[in-house]
Amino acid sequence: MPTIGVLALQGDVREHVRMLQESGATATAVRRPAELDAVDGLVIPGGESTTMWKLAETFDMLDPLRMRIKEGMPAYGSCAGMIMLADRIEDGADGQQTVGGIDMVVRRNAFGRQVDSFEADLDFAGERVHAVFIRAPWVESVGADVDVLGTAEPGDRIVAVRQGPLLATSFHPELTGDTRVHRYFVDMVDGSSR
Ligand code: GLN
Repeated sequence: MPTIGVLALQGDVREHVRMLQESGATATAVRRPAELDAVDGLVIPGGESTTMWKLAETFDMLDPLRMRIKEGMPAYGSCAGMIMLADRIEDGADGQQTVGGIDMVVRRNAFGRQVDSFEADLDFAGERVHAVFIRAPWVESVGADVDVLGTAEPGDRIVAVRQGPLLATSFHPELTGDTRVHRYFVDMVDGSSR
């Protein structure tokens, strides 16, 4: 059973912990570099990416996060977490930094300019899921090594991607009670540790 951390600087940590436990993982909150060292994979939750970035700096977590991702640790970012995993962002706050790892441009609050939150059924990696979007980003463009796993209306925007051990969604599967996205990530972590 893999041990998967949830980055617990800010955001909806508890919901992800519960979904990971229901998906067959041991789940634990991660705030410190030593806690990060102890996990096989990491979820970066939804919340507010500017706050998360500032707290990551304050807690000296930004470089350790970058390091572990560079070394190949599987990570899954949802919403603000997707922003954190993006190599480049649009409409970020002044000086806003990310952890990076996925070769993509993510536009912050992209859907939010039209409607703050909405729900939609969409295909995620070939399965129909119900997706909840809250002031959600979308993926503006991806590099050649990034697989698009899902798109959403309006505009057929990219909302789910994978690049090797890194997964990101604009939406919040932890709020639906449907564990399939978390199970998909737990399988990724399982596969990478063998
Ligand atoms: N708009 C938020 C941000 O920029 C993300 C919203 C969310 O995670 N629900 O970080």
